Amino acid sequence: MPIGREQIEQIYEQVVRRNPGELEFHQAVKEVLETLTPVLTKYPQFAEHKIIQRICEPERQIIFRVPWQDDRGEVQINRGFRVQFNSVLGPYKGGLRFHPSVLLGTIKFLGFEQIFKNALTGMPIGGAKGGSDFDPKGRSDDEVMRFCQSFMTELHRHLGEYTDVPAGDIGVGAREIGYLFGQYKRMTNRYESAVLTGKSPHWGGALVRKEATGYGAVYFVDEMLKTRGESFEGKVCVVSGSGNVAIYTIEKILELGGRVVACSDSGGVIYHERGIDLDTVKQLKEVERKRISVYADLHKDAKYIPGGSVWDIPCQVAMPSATQNELDGDAARRLVTNGCIAVGEGANMPTTPEGVRIFQEAKILYAPGKAANAGGVATSALEMQQNASRDAWSFEHTERRLHEIMTEIHRACYETSVEFGSPGNYVLGANIVGFTRVAEAMVAFGLI
Ligand code: GLU
Repeated sequence: MPIGREQIEQIYEQVVRRNPGELEFHQAVKEVLETLTPVLTKYPQFAEHKIIQRICEPERQIIFRVPWQDDRGEVQINRGFRVQFNSVLGPYKGGLRFHPSVLLGTIKFLGFEQIFKNALTGMPIGGAKGGSDFDPKGRSDDEVMRFCQSFMTELHRHLGEYTDVPAGDIGVGAREIGYLFGQYKRMTNRYESAVLTGKSPHWGGALVRKEATGYGAVYFVDEMLKTRGESFEGKVCVVSGSGNVAIYTIEKILELGGRVVACSDSGGVIYHERGIDLDTVKQLKEVERKRISVYADLHKDAKYIPGGSVWDIPCQVAMPSATQNELDGDAARRLVTNGCIAVGEGANMPTTPEGVRIFQEAKILYAPGKAANAGGVATSALEMQQNASRDAWSFEHTERRLHEIMTEIHRACYETSVEFGSPGNYVLGANIVGFTRVAEAMVAFGLI
């Protein structure tokens, strides 16, 4: 018996009951479940095997204490998480987020999204996410190192190139991956390159990994634009954030002939009408770790809007690349009114459910993060591939592979949206493609 809308609603209510207070997790689950009814009608075996109920329950959740000493010798206590959600398609794979807002529900929403995102890449990787409420902002390199060493002292026993392979996310870049890898190597006495991705290319990291999430998101939007006979050429774009994803989103938009007039950080927005100067952003964020407000001191014709919203700035293409729920219904309405024709999510779940509905009703192109930002983790899988063969590919070759993967994800999502009667509904397309790949493997593996 295929299950209908009502039973899906019941499953969702059970998820809410069993995971009280985890609002972001509820939101991520709801969005996926809402699009699955047609799949369950087409494949009744999924309901029979209780795939939805099983997929919403992580295979394993690890929560641990992370004690460390700051530069003044004071003891600090943080909480570490790793939620190993699903491993039917490959070893658990997904980033670590270090940010003061991190709670178990945050990691669970990210891990849940990661299952489908990773399945969409077509690479052999399962879904997981981890992190801590540690705030690296304002911390010295030594403090970050001590925190990472303590974090890995516990986490190492749960990892392995065939078990679980973390990478970066917000607050975790090549510096943190270096400290984590060093401690893993020390704890295990194994130079196991493929146990972490996002490593520096000097010691096993893949070229293009740093650029991959941003580049991939722009490739995806470019594919969407093509379906309407459009391109980035001459388009006015805004990008939220100014971290790793935002920086390489801007870089690829510029390469494709677009103009990025705004970016931001948690303090405010930079509006630069003649176009954001990317070298300045890179210098401020990648080298000096400064606030984006400093940009306006260096470019007198740019405007800093403290506490402002990038979504107030008129644009044709919007790329939310900061964090979850940064683009709400009001912001979506303003974007549509101002003539925005495409939205591509470099961040995970940056648009609220109301915002998504507004984009869909306005029939503008909208790419959910699990499809649009899959280039990061896809390139992590390419890094694992290089590590496994003790090889290192050229930038050009790796970028070509990334481009192919993003084009293929777009094709699969688009064709599925057509097959299921909602052409251009990339939310439906991405959820159905990702879910079906995972569900088929879960059925094949028996009750595990
Ligand atoms: N944190 C990234 C994401 O959200 C990348 C994960 C990875 O490379 O494993 O997909």
